[in-house]
Amino acid sequence: MAPKFVCAHIRAMDGQPPGEPPAAAGERLIKLNTNENPFPPSPKVMAAIRDVEPEMLRRYPNANGDSFRAAAAKVIGVSPDMILCGNGADDVLTIATRTFVGAGNVLASPVPGYARYATLAKLEEAKFFGLPWEKDWALPIEALAESKAAAIFLPNPNSMSGTVVPSAEIAALADAFDGAVVVDEAYVDFADESSLPLVKEHANVVVVRSLSKAYSLAGLRFGYAIAQEAVIEEMLKAKDSFNVDAIALTAACAAIEDQEYAQMTWQNIRAERERLTTELEAVGWRWLLSRTNFLLATVPDRSGKEMINSLKR
Ligand SMILES: *Cc1c(COP(=O)(O)O)cnc(C)c1O
Repeated sequence: MAPKFVCAHIRAMDGQPPGEPPAAAGERLIKLNTNENPFPPSPKVMAAIRDVEPEMLRRYPNANGDSFRAAAAKVIGVSPDMILCGNGADDVLTIATRTFVGAGNVLASPVPGYARYATLAKLEEAKFFGLPWEKDWALPIEALAESKAAAIFLPNPNSMSGTVVPSAEIAALADAFDGAVVVDEAYVDFADESSLPLVKEHANVVVVRSLSKAYSLAGLRFGYAIAQEAVIEEMLKAKDSFNVDAIALTAACAAIEDQEYAQMTWQNIRAERERLTTELEAVGWRWLLSRTNFLLATVPDRSGKEMINSLKR
């Protein structure tokens, strides 16, 4: 029994089981089951971490992560004021929920998608409204636009299927909907198109990105949002005072500045994705066209669970 002094909305929640824990040191396996990047981080990231000075840790970090905002702004081609840093994309999504949804309101999202959105809604005492994808993982634009939600969270590419919604459809949704449209682009670097160009014309579009998958830094915890300056200004109010630490900031700057290394990993992953689809087809599996670093596939001759266990062995 949960203690009575715990808030009712927290008591009512299921604890979220984290992904399978990392293997013990020395165990010979490459952990990928939470869609990690199989490559190590850039050598420049490791060098930046080794160069961390005691003085940097003695002081508080820059509250808004200005060094990363400047570095990312250059790479992405936006102004630094259009960027918000977070302790992973999940932290950015927490900030987005606080800023755009709030207690008693609705967070809508196509399902199945990224499970964390429903948890974030509960934490803010908001309601989660999951709308099923249409045929072939098409976006239910009308249903979402008419949902009376305060915000729509859209994983794109989708974290469940690996499929993408064309940005023209996201633009149509942003036009038809008054609330915030939060486009979660955790996998965008493995795809061909981003919703970033929409930010300029649509004040209600917020793009969220992560360094976990594209930059091999899931253990570091760094993510960011891109939106119009006035939107970022409001989101900054909703974050923890020092939500990104000094080591993460330094490493994240080195990671985003080393585009050459990151793009090498993306090209390799895309090529392997194509190779894997060909191989799976040859052994009779069915799979969805993926724009991510994973494939959603149907195993023909046994259950998925059996397949997972035999792969583990
Ligand atoms: C992995 C993932 C996240 C979380 O990213 P972190 O930066 O590790 O917090 C958010 N959204 C989607 C869709 C993801 O797949």
